[in-house]
Amino acid sequence: MKHVLPTARLTTLGDRLQRVNRITLGFALLIVALLIIASSFSISLFSLVDASRVKASVLAENASASLMFQDARSAQELLQSLQQSPDVHAAALYDKNRQQFASFVVPEHSVPASIGSLQENMAYGWEYLNFTQPVMLDGELIGGLYLNVDLAMLYMQMAWQATITLGAAFLAMLVANTLLRRLNRSVLQPINGLSALMEQVSDQNDYSARAGPSDITELNALAEGFNDMLEQIQQRDIARKEAENKTLRLAYFDSLTGLPNRQSFLERLGREVRIAEREKTRLAILFMDLDGFKGINDSMGHNTGDLILQWAADRLQQGIRPYDMVVRAPIDESEVELARLGGDEFTALIPRIAKPEDALLVAHRIRELMRRPFVLEGREVVLTASIGIAVYPDDGEDASSLLKHADTAMYHAKDEGRDNCQFYSASLTERVQHRLNLESNLRHALARNEFSLVYQPQFDLIRGSIQSVEALIRWNHPEQGVIPPLDFIPLAEENGLIVPIGEWVLRTACADAARWRHEGHALRVAVNLSPMQFKDPELVKMVLGILGQTGLPPELLELEITEGAVMEDSGATLATLEALSLQRVQIALDDFGTGYSSMSYLKRMPLNNLKVDQSFVKGLPHDRDNRAIVRAILSMARNLGFSVTAEGVETLEQADALKKMACDTLQGYYFSRPVPAADIPALLSRQWLADGPSTCFIDPASAAASDQGA
Ligand code: C2E
Ligand code: CA
Ligand code: CA
Repeated sequence: MKHVLPTARLTTLGDRLQRVNRITLGFALLIVALLIIASSFSISLFSLVDASRVKASVLAENASASLMFQDARSAQELLQSLQQSPDVHAAALYDKNRQQFASFVVPEHSVPASIGSLQENMAYGWEYLNFTQPVMLDGELIGGLYLNVDLAMLYMQMAWQATITLGAAFLAMLVANTLLRRLNRSVLQPINGLSALMEQVSDQNDYSARAGPSDITELNALAEGFNDMLEQIQQRDIARKEAENKTLRLAYFDSLTGLPNRQSFLERLGREVRIAEREKTRLAILFMDLDGFKGINDSMGHNTGDLILQWAADRLQQGIRPYDMVVRAPIDESEVELARLGGDEFTALIPRIAKPEDALLVAHRIRELMRRPFVLEGREVVLTASIGIAVYPDDGEDASSLLKHADTAMYHAKDEGRDNCQFYSASLTERVQHRLNLESNLRHALARNEFSLVYQPQFDLIRGSIQSVEALIRWNHPEQGVIPPLDFIPLAEENGLIVPIGEWVLRTACADAARWRHEGHALRVAVNLSPMQFKDPELVKMVLGILGQTGLPPELLELEITEGAVMEDSGATLATLEALSLQRVQIALDDFGTGYSSMSYLKRMPLNNLKVDQSFVKGLPHDRDNRAIVRAILSMARNLGFSVTAEGVETLEQADALKKMACDTLQGYYFSRPVPAADIPALLSRQWLADGPSTCFIDPASAAASDQGA
């Protein structure tokens, strides 16, 4: 904790020293100046008194003859000589009867006409000194002298002198102040350096900093002491960190393999489970046990066993590296946490898996790596691994139950004959296995020519005949028979195979349509594009290339895209659509109404056709909601200049209702299920509408009957 001092009354050391210096110095200089003034005053005063007394006695002596002979004139002259002494303001001579005999007076001053005593005397006041001096002749008192000395002159002199003294003191103070400031600075600089260093150390906990030397002994000692203290703290800090690391390693890591231990694994698992819960993602844990490890340990010794465990840990680490780079890495390697729980039990935590298969891929890879022989003292030892997998949230909702279930799954794998891998839930194992098989088969299906196309006719209500067909893919699996697209298209979209498959579909459909055209049936063919194909920057080039190669006019090709694909990235999407549209390729929005297209959005897209999703056609003609929706779609499409195809038309009523609503095109089992290309020409010649004023659709039963008749 940092102690915070109140800052309001804080000053710097320099300021404080400066103030103390100034006060002390000021006092000292003032006292000295006052002493000088006082002493010079007293000296001046005493010398004035002495001088005046001498003057009085000299005058008194010189005046004796004048008094003796009563010569007032010479007495007056004698006193007039005092004009030379500016201090003397008045003087007088008195006869032995103490009556004034002669006087000297500066204007505005006076002398007494008689005095009380002729004895030697000095009286004084703030402003004057009065001397009385007897005048003697041959030891006989014959009169007296009075002398008045003014002190104003003395005071004036003293004031002048005080001014000079104080001025000198002030100057001395100024000079001293500057010198002191310099001195302060030279002393304070190293102290400030030390305090800055201290701040740095406490702020950054950087105990490696050191104070520099100083040329002042005490400060040097202080810096050295400070450095010693830092040194000790640094040493202690290093030791503490090492101890902490060691404790941490012991508490969280396995000393043999360096992998995290059970404790650390459980903590991380707990955290990841909370994240997965929050982000609604899946995570998997793999629980691996080496088959036959106990035998090795018993027969070849623990040291060998330890060695194998270390090698196994290394292989595990390799096993989680992304490998399936053909399409995209299913997992982020940096997020996988491996751990050794103890003995020959290892775990791997794989957060954020898209599907359980991703975990299985990692497990397969680990098993493959483990199967490689370990070479021990020239002998090859083959060990296999049994792996159990538990998936959050499917197999448990907290760390400990997930770990327990992965452990159970591992035992299950061992039961299944070791070198095996099992999910905790059996159905998951099966499902995943099925999917993996399907995926690996799908990779070869194109080369093995296992795909085919079927075509579903689309009835044009304006022309009253079939003008177009939709191409739909089928996978003729050698063992599983015909697999419908919904069972493998999502898989192909996940692993990217949809791009080559989609290209094959387009090429085949265009080739079939071109052939029909040569046979005299100018049918438009609609081909489904998956969002992933749509994002392919080569799409336009590929489409135009195929049109060129097959010789199909672009207006006989319609590409069906979904709302999702169009909405995803408006800029690039719009550019692609415009490029295709410019070439007169038709664009249809598939499954319309199930997505989230906004009106303003549709307006900007160069679309030709909206395909109303089957779900809206289903309830027709009785379901009022569906009727309203289809009506709304139709009126909107008309406003935007699009035609409308209704999908999933299965009954006569639906067909009639849609015809009444003035839908443009109808598609569905009522007209035909999707059929092979060879069957299409026959469907074209069939009559769908009854002749006559009502132009109703013909009942399929009678249509079939008339077909048979034909
Ligand atoms: P979609 O494009 O909506 O195709 C219409 C689906 O509805 C087809 O199923 C078709 O057989 C079926 N259908 C047609 N008429 C009716 C009817 O009257 N009633 C009912 N209940 N269903 C009818 P299919 O062939 O199984 O295709 C399913 C989906 O697979 C297609 O839906 C399409 O999204 C996708 N798909 C099919 N072929 C391809 C392809 O070559 N490429 C891509 N990317 N997707 C395709
Ligand atoms: Ca479609
Ligand atoms: Ca559709």
